[in-house]
Amino acid sequence: MMSQDRRRIWEGSGKQMQLFILAYLLLLALPCMGFLPNFWSRVLTLSWDSHTHQYITEQAILNVTLETLRSTKTSQGNNEEEQTRLGRGFWRAVGEVVKSNAAMDFLSSTRSDPVYHFDSEQVDSAMGMLRQFWAQTLLSVRAKEYQSARHSLGQLFHSLQDFYSHSNWVEMGQRSIYLHLLQPEEPAVPVAEVPQM
Ligand SMILES: [Zn+2]
Repeated sequence: MMSQDRRRIWEGSGKQMQLFILAYLLLLALPCMGFLPNFWSRVLTLSWDSHTHQYITEQAILNVTLETLRSTKTSQGNNEEEQTRLGRGFWRAVGEVVKSNAAMDFLSSTRSDPVYHFDSEQVDSAMGMLRQFWAQTLLSVRAKEYQSARHSLGQLFHSLQDFYSHSNWVEMGQRSIYLHLLQPEEPAVPVAEVPQM
């Protein structure tokens, strides 16, 4: 049931969002070895040319929101005008997603567990975790628990962003997004596996 619902959501309006976010993440993942959590970590490490989880998440949500607004009948004006119409509530919500995303690299419960960061070749378990975050996000939205939905969405974005920077997907020459991560019915590609001892 969950997988059917999930499919419907991804095939519907979510499809556009999915493609956009994932394409965006992939493009941004190319020049980096890994993303820093937020603006301040970039200051502290003097990594000015590196994109942060915060930046990628904010840009992705903003772009998808503008796309969605443009596709609705009520939309008028260009991107810039639309952007100025997004109120404080919007940015507060984005801030919650960003905070939960960055916390994955700070909290002792998540920061050194490879399953949350696609580290140590634990691709399968990390993918399982990613799908759990997605399922949790959908459940919370259905229950109208939007704060909790934003929390798990932030966690999901973190792991998803880490996939493209911590796995060897880009080094494998892949230039498209890896749909199988969140859509089990899409073909699986062997990414780095745990080496046989
Ligand atoms: Zn991470």
